[in-house]
Amino acid sequence: MQLEGRVALVTGAGSGIGRATADLMAREGAKVAALGPEEEELRDLVREIGDERAIAIDADVSQPDQMERAVRTVIDRWGSLDLVFANAGINGVWAPLEELSPEEWDKTLAINLKGTFLTVKYALPYLKRHGGSIIVTSSVNGTRMFSNTGATAYACSKAAQVAFTKMVAVELAPHKVRVNVICPGAIKTPIHEKTDRRDLEEVQIPVEFPEGQIPLTHGAQGDPMQVARLVVFLASDAADHITGTEIWIDGGESLLKG
Ligand code: NAD
Repeated sequence: MQLEGRVALVTGAGSGIGRATADLMAREGAKVAALGPEEEELRDLVREIGDERAIAIDADVSQPDQMERAVRTVIDRWGSLDLVFANAGINGVWAPLEELSPEEWDKTLAINLKGTFLTVKYALPYLKRHGGSIIVTSSVNGTRMFSNTGATAYACSKAAQVAFTKMVAVELAPHKVRVNVICPGAIKTPIHEKTDRRDLEEVQIPVEFPEGQIPLTHGAQGDPMQVARLVVFLASDAADHITGTEIWIDGGESLLKG
């Protein structure tokens, strides 16, 4: 039980990586606040974990008032907050730059980047009390892979999350709050079906590899639980000298597709 006695806030907990991580954190002993817009999925998750050790929070990470309220809900329920997994995100619109509207750009940045800022900002006063661990979900896109032409807003938001992590890791080190960022490659989650792809054939440059796109798996996507295990490690005391670091979890994908 690596996370016994800890209280965790997981954003984007309704599906994919967030859901797998909320589940694993609970099995490792943490109490989990599962935040996202999917009421039914979150209710199911809370039922699975047990309502003594999990709560569902309906909030939008891009809205300051909702995130402030979300953190207050956690404190009212359990009195402390030790772990934050800032994971909620969207692929948004992938399109040639001239076709991408300013509103589409803003939406991706508001959820992925501002959402990370707000999640961490409102949690901080409580994390600082006893120290803690923050893990941010970035991506291979924008950090070690730049061949996903059209995913510009997404990649920029993900690159900025790495800078955010490093800035804040230094700022929070005196408070014993560690901040790390994970960069997954292709993981089998619903995010791929939600991507709004437009006219990408106009800008994408074909890339072909003889042995498939993910060296470690001959092309198969990763599993959300593989990512959850990394997050639990970073959240735990086993990672107590690790801060300000990005870790790619992609089976070597981004080494080929950079
Ligand atoms: P997902 O779509 O299954 O999960 C994303 C979650 O974020 C969903 O529960 C969604 O409802 C939630 N969310 C979206 N907008 C929100 C908002 N405004 N407020 C609160 N919650 C919101 O996809 P996933 O693959 O599990 O994605 C999780 C994170 O992993 C994202 O940040 C994504 O960019 C990143 N990522 C995923 C992959 C992949 O291949 N799946 C690769 C690299 C990075």
